[in-house]
Amino acid sequence: MGQILDGKALADFKAVKLKLTVEKLRKQGTRPCFCVINIGEDPSSKIYLKTKKRRAAEIGIGQKVYQLKADVSQVELLALIAKLNRDDKVDGIMIQLPVPEQINLNEALEQIDPAKDVDCLTPSNVGRLWRGDHFVEPATAHGILALLDHYRINLRGKNVVIIGRSSIVGKPLAALMLERDATVSILHLQTSNLFEYTKRADIIVSAAGQAKLVTAAMIKPGAVIIDVGINRLDKQVVGDVDFASVAPKASYITPVPGGIGPLTVESLMEQVVKLARRKDGR
Ligand code: NDP
Repeated sequence: MGQILDGKALADFKAVKLKLTVEKLRKQGTRPCFCVINIGEDPSSKIYLKTKKRRAAEIGIGQKVYQLKADVSQVELLALIAKLNRDDKVDGIMIQLPVPEQINLNEALEQIDPAKDVDCLTPSNVGRLWRGDHFVEPATAHGILALLDHYRINLRGKNVVIIGRSSIVGKPLAALMLERDATVSILHLQTSNLFEYTKRADIIVSAAGQAKLVTAAMIKPGAVIIDVGINRLDKQVVGDVDFASVAPKASYITPVPGGIGPLTVESLMEQVVKLARRKDGR
């Protein structure tokens, strides 16, 4: 049976440390604060917002949610972003995904001040990420690397397969893993044979959003399995990995829930603090 990579325990531990940092900063006059722009009433977004709010409050970070109507116009959204860019008290700005169809997400992201781009999604920050001189990291990718570091799982020379090429998980994670000298393959729906890649992988990260996508037959014995997926199956939250069959064959494996999810939220808070310190030169 593979060892469980306990993301929840690590997130709780890191949150205690971050809280101490935030207390110190507050004594020096810096109060980290971020804003989330949520458009419409997506039920999953509401859950994520609640989780972020709870973690932010626990650590002592300010969080303000701007709730916009589902039919908000692009112009109104851009005006809000411009206002938050100008507000000195705001250290981080993020747009909660998904956004409704009338919104041009890329155009909106381009308007966020890169110095406040807590999700690392503005073009200049994405460029910095690939160039290796970034000052902020996307939360999920940051959380995954923190977990691997904590369990001393080295990336140098490893064959890594990432399933999923989204801008928030797959692509930034590939950039950060390349920086750590891993050999990275990114798979997606047009990849003709997932097995061919996963069978050779030392580390598999699945961020596809499809329950039971990764099965025992797809992995080599001793592989490290990181499950990012969050899916609902028979009224239960499950990942992308068929945990029961894969865990006995893996060396390490993340559970869902309790794996990457809590680390993503904690890592987001770390990024807010990073941006606040950067702004205040601390
Ligand atoms: P997206 O839908 O944006 O991207 C999914 C990616 O997976 C796409 O690149 C898609 O390919 C690929 N994909 C889907 N099905 C398959 C398949 N059968 N074979 C190969 N590739 C496939 O999702 P996100 O990146 O936003 O999220 C992915 C999952 O991770 C979701 O379940 C989400 O809820 C979860 N998530 C969890 C987080 C956490 O903290 N634990 C944080 C963020 C997301 P293509 O590009 O060809 O369409």
